[in-house]
Amino acid sequence: MSITGKQLIAGEWKAGNADSFRAVNPATGESLEPEFIGADEQQVAEAVAAASACAAEFANTAPSVRAEFLNRCADEIMALGDELLERVTAETGYPRARAEGERGRTCGQLKLFAEWIVSGEYLDARIDTALPDRQPLPRPDLRSFNQALGPVAVFGASNFPLAFSVAGGDTASAFAAGCPVVVKGHNSHPGTSELVARAVGRAVEKSGLPGGVFSLILGAGSRVGAELVKAPGIKAVGFTGSFTGGTALFKLANERPEPIPVFAEMGSVNPVVLLPQALENSAEAIAEGFITSLNMGTGQFCVNPGLVLSVEGEGLDRFTAAAGEALSKVGAGVMLNKNTLSGYRSGVGHLRDQAGVEQLAAGESAGEDGGFTCQAGLFTVSGAEFLANPALQEEVFGPVSLVVKCCDREELLAVVGSLKGQLTGTLQCAEGELDSYGELVQQLRQRVGRIVVNGFPTGVEVCHAMMHGGPFPAATDSRFTSVGTMAIARFVRPICFQNYPENLLPDALKNSNPLGISRLVNGGKTSDGIG
Ligand code: NAP
Repeated sequence: MSITGKQLIAGEWKAGNADSFRAVNPATGESLEPEFIGADEQQVAEAVAAASACAAEFANTAPSVRAEFLNRCADEIMALGDELLERVTAETGYPRARAEGERGRTCGQLKLFAEWIVSGEYLDARIDTALPDRQPLPRPDLRSFNQALGPVAVFGASNFPLAFSVAGGDTASAFAAGCPVVVKGHNSHPGTSELVARAVGRAVEKSGLPGGVFSLILGAGSRVGAELVKAPGIKAVGFTGSFTGGTALFKLANERPEPIPVFAEMGSVNPVVLLPQALENSAEAIAEGFITSLNMGTGQFCVNPGLVLSVEGEGLDRFTAAAGEALSKVGAGVMLNKNTLSGYRSGVGHLRDQAGVEQLAAGESAGEDGGFTCQAGLFTVSGAEFLANPALQEEVFGPVSLVVKCCDREELLAVVGSLKGQLTGTLQCAEGELDSYGELVQQLRQRVGRIVVNGFPTGVEVCHAMMHGGPFPAATDSRFTSVGTMAIARFVRPICFQNYPENLLPDALKNSNPLGISRLVNGGKTSDGIG
């Protein structure tokens, strides 16, 4: 079945009523079939109303029912076969291997959430049984657990057409929590979005769930996206993208009569600190790893290493020479869309114009073949200039990085201490070298969501311990991650039942513990029933 250009609203495929647009192949600049027509205000309202109407029913499904649904989503995505991979490639310029890898990650993510919710850990069930004879006052029976927040609006990211889009991490974690989802698909890959929505729609149907559990709407973010966030039925927002987009949605959500949380992951410059002994031992190998990381996916990762921090010396000279040489051999890469390319070009131009910034090396120049190709770049600046100019901390989305040469260890510490919130911070160090950098590590810990030792920040494992977020401006709420099973916490809230009739309690809190989950009963962890 070919791509239709329609959107899925509560189980029904509907032609939009607003603005029309087409996807563009970034490798060639050519428009792709078919034409898509964005949702109008009425259609956005319809999707949200259907999500609200089934929110309680979906929230009350057993974790095992939602696990089966999540597994079905993964199976249906796989069943789309080559059509999906070809469309991803055409709409993003990513090689087929990347499309396949991202599909694997997306399906693995859905399955991991399925497995995790059955354990019941995310419910954090707690029971304090009544103490009627306690003096001076009796204690009532108190039971709490995490319940679903309600309909979630998800904004697909341009750079992850599968893993952070229609059935990506935000959607998977919202479903896992028991929240219906309305996705605002990214206009860069509407065909991919339609195909994945088809898979999710089939999973909804096969699982016997109400159609309102999932909708995909398309159209301009400033219109459709804004209407979605303002819709009273929406109770939370998941977003991955630019600082401008994320903060605009955050503002909108806080101006609502009922403000709602916006979990926006907006990227960062991901500083990589090179300690002197590590450079002395292996400057060339570190340079090679760094350039590979910098150019992965044409630098279009929120965890791209956009900043390198070190102290001047022979080791750093060897590093910059090797990194410069490796970078000069990097071919022109295809960027995701026209806006990303123009953002990259203006970002590099802005960086080049800053006081004290010098170009160390450039990749092969971009051709004039109509595609959205870009040239990689490596720049350098002194520690003093960096400290004096906050503009040097701005993210340039793409394959460019800035090496900050500090005059001494004190200046390196000051530079780390001046950094804004980051998704990651990386330390390249020799064995035992970190022991004497306690203060620097503390400074880094205050500023990042994940510390990487002797590796590079690109590559975000989907697992239980992952933290993919960080202090503002990396994300709007540093307490939460958008990757890994902890991501469910964004879409639940604790509710406490006091002296509530046993037969009406949610299964997670019943005396008999029908879900067989581990609970905190009177302060001790147990899977046993009560009484
Ligand atoms: P984006 O512009 O932030 O857009 C992401 C999504 O949010 C899109 O669906 C967009 O809709 C919507 N949106 C943006 N502003 C909005 C607003 N004011 N109101 C409502 N909806 C809004 O990100 P992008 O398109 O993925 O990429 C643009 C730039 O963001 C890139 O060039 C790059 O610099 C940066 N970026 C950063 C990361 C990261 O992880 N740090 C990832 C991707 C991109 P429309 O497209 O219809 O406006």
